[in-house]
Amino acid sequence: MADCIFCKIAQGEIPANIVFENEQVIVFHDIKPAAPVHVLIVPKKHISDAMALDQDADGPAIAWVLFQAAAEAARLLGVDKKGFRLINNCGKDGGQTIDHIHMHLIGGITLGEGLI
Ligand code: AMP
Ligand code: ZN
Repeated sequence: MADCIFCKIAQGEIPANIVFENEQVIVFHDIKPAAPVHVLIVPKKHISDAMALDQDADGPAIAWVLFQAAAEAARLLGVDKKGFRLINNCGKDGGQTIDHIHMHLIGGITLGEGLI
């Protein structure tokens, strides 16, 4: 989608610090990390958020791909054994700032219970 920063990263039009990618998904380091490990897991298909994923014919496959990519990223980044947190922000109250669905994987630190 035009003017979507994550579509541009997925298409190689703007640079990112990529962990890995395949036909369906790209994983790259967050530009403003909130933890020692903080990557974004982004499907290459433009889907705006979790509510739109539910309405998309590819939704089930993409949801699976996101979790597969999270596990692969965790292994590559060495947080698979100790654990990590996956976060999806949806919409304004959810704190979503980029309207292309993505999951944050954060780890490398013992995360407290906090809100969740
Ligand atoms: P969210 O608030 O859930 O929409 O998350 C968007 C995330 O994208 C934030 O954590 C930003 O730091 C991150 N971000 C924004 N622009 C870039 C970029 N060009 N490369 C990597 N991460 C980015
Ligand atoms: Zn997009």
